[in-house]
Amino acid sequence: MEVFKFGGASLKDAQSIKNIVEILNSYHYLDQLVVVVSAMGKTTNAFEKFLSLVYSGSANFQEAITPIKSFHWEVCRQLFAPEHDFWKELEAIFDEIREQSAELSALPYDMAYDRIVGYGEILASRIFSVYQNTQGIDHQWLDARSVIRTDSCYRAANVNIELSCNRIRVWFQQNTDSRYRIITQGFIGQDMQGNMVTLGREGSDYSAALFATALSANSVVLWKDVPGVMNADPDFYAQAMPFQFVSYREAIELTYYGAKIIHPKTIKPLENAGIPLFVRPFLHPTEQGTRIGPGIGTIPQIPSIIHKSNQILITISHKDLSFITEKTLSTVLSVFDNFALKINLMQNSALTFSICLDDIGNKIDEIFTQLMKFYEVKYNRQLTLLTFRHYAQQPRIIDQWIEGKLILVEQRSRNTAQYVIAEK
Ligand code: ASP
Ligand code: MG
Repeated sequence: MEVFKFGGASLKDAQSIKNIVEILNSYHYLDQLVVVVSAMGKTTNAFEKFLSLVYSGSANFQEAITPIKSFHWEVCRQLFAPEHDFWKELEAIFDEIREQSAELSALPYDMAYDRIVGYGEILASRIFSVYQNTQGIDHQWLDARSVIRTDSCYRAANVNIELSCNRIRVWFQQNTDSRYRIITQGFIGQDMQGNMVTLGREGSDYSAALFATALSANSVVLWKDVPGVMNADPDFYAQAMPFQFVSYREAIELTYYGAKIIHPKTIKPLENAGIPLFVRPFLHPTEQGTRIGPGIGTIPQIPSIIHKSNQILITISHKDLSFITEKTLSTVLSVFDNFALKINLMQNSALTFSICLDDIGNKIDEIFTQLMKFYEVKYNRQLTLLTFRHYAQQPRIIDQWIEGKLILVEQRSRNTAQYVIAEK
């Protein structure tokens, strides 16, 4: 059994759905194939936009949903005949979204988010599944919400792995025989109260890893729009190169520092279960891409550059010039922990404690209010965090990137160098 995951870029229109079915058909010899899909194209962004309009009351349901509806309608027009039964189902899904949208503004924002945004995955997986029916392809559709169980930390729900894996195994025992193809969704699950939740943006990779772990799959393949795991984002670095191999450990480091290719939670369950992960290009399905598995470092051995924009550097000090003590550090860190914010880099001196993190709007404002009660707080916005892994393999690489930039923080260990910079 294999687990394949297809993200938004590989599901961007009707033609891509047909291409994926072709890729899957070329694996007809596998005993079982679990296919995890995320929302089509930029649908998750579109749902975020929809939510902000409806939540703030600046548009009614009908206006706000129109772009999402028209997009999915157009895709379906190219896949299904006008008399196909699926049109009724599609209407019913949008009716459900309308019902869920009725009282959104009464809910905390993150809770409202999880009521709505995961419908992108439901739509994609239903369209994909029904299209396969029209092609006579035997398969089963699995609602990931019925098996992935989480806490209620909305927008970044924590999966109860043991419970979820058990539920996955039970579902497979009861619903499939070994020759089935299963279509399910990434990114979504359900909390203990029965609400839909999301696992964090780009969380479908993690979902694929959970299915693979539960079912002891031979491997997981993430089909992407790049040749594999690259040593830099090709949008920022024309010389970016794909790796043939990346060790589990190095992959965890790269995703931790912000390499966007794989969701950071994906590797751990696979490493623990000894399941290799492949990142392969869906446009060139015969290419091998990158293998992630046991071993050391990367092949080839070259530095990786990770570019994270939209950073904020918050600098905290005591109002009365007291030292930054261990107690200060732990109090400040617990404020960030309470807001479930991930810190990308931190540094302290006698009188200041600086923290660099993603500048994500409303939570940052709330954290300022908290911190300002006790500390003096200063900040810089619109910064970039550059991380270089294994920079010693090409010592001049750092200069090339930081030349002419204003450096606000610099940190180096033997393997990793990090710079918080302002573009001048
Ligand atoms: N559709 C979700 C997102 O765009 C999840 C994913 O793609 O993995 O964030
Ligand atoms: Mg996506």
